Amino acid sequence: MVGRLEGKNAIITGAAGGIGLETTILMLHEGASVLMTDISDAGLNKALSKVNSVVPASTRTGKVEIKVVDVSNESQIEAAVAHLDAWGGLDIIFNNAGIMHPKDGDSEECPEDIWDRTMNINVKGVWYGSKHAVRAFRRHGKKRASVINTASMVALVGAATPQLAYTASKGAVLAMTRELAIVHAREGFRFNSLCPAPLNTPLLQDWLGDDKEKRFRREVHFPTGRFGEPVEQAHAVIFLASDESSFVNATDFVVDGGLTKAYVTPE
Ligand code: NAD
Repeated sequence: MVGRLEGKNAIITGAAGGIGLETTILMLHEGASVLMTDISDAGLNKALSKVNSVVPASTRTGKVEIKVVDVSNESQIEAAVAHLDAWGGLDIIFNNAGIMHPKDGDSEECPEDIWDRTMNINVKGVWYGSKHAVRAFRRHGKKRASVINTASMVALVGAATPQLAYTASKGAVLAMTRELAIVHAREGFRFNSLCPAPLNTPLLQDWLGDDKEKRFRREVHFPTGRFGEPVEQAHAVIFLASDESSFVNATDFVVDGGLTKAYVTPE
């Protein structure tokens, strides 16, 4: 059976983390070649071992490689995209790397350096990834290409447990992605945002730790009664990356178990 991403070349940023790793695995299952990038070398090597055990080389048609990339450094993003020139050029980029810093807070609490660092990674990183993707799509004469940028549900609804820099950064991802989608629509380059709800990934779970009160403060709002799983986001990314979503453009693609539509949740 032909995979849904057969022959496509993809870059994933933040590929050592929860959503990025699960997306790598699904993309390989679907026939893509994937360059896994992350700021953490150790994280990438660990993630690659998992990938190779779940999708052994003998079972895949595409290849997988790793490369250390800090998304807030434009030349590193540019080099990662250029790396795929030898593969036939980029078709898909999943601008997924992001941070939620423990020192982030409300407008009084959030230190300026944390604000700047959050914006540099979460917003500029997505801009750099989008910009160099467009250049590569044009360079290779691509008529169909997909960019998926990770935002968050906090870009859509306010939270009384604030992380102002994070929330503002994710709102910027939505607005930027929407505009890029319109600008490049006639070239066949689609841009969509992914808006996950709180998940079982290190980003959130390390921060919550075993603080039961902090955990309950969030869980009570989930219609499903649970956190999401990273693979549930990855399935959405595969759809957005594939030609099945050829008429899906500029969306805030919400994968949240109904959280942002809930008023009172089931007991
Ligand atoms: P994660 O912490 O498991 O993964 C994030 C990855 O990004 C890590 O591997 C980390 O090393 C990498 N990273 C951090 N800074 C980087 C940089 N400067 N350059 C390159 N890589 C960098 O988290 P995750 O849940 O998989 O998060 C992925 C995306 O999903 C993030 O953008 C996050 O904001 C978003 N998100 C997560 C949740 C959640 O609850 N986990 C909810 C909504 C949105």
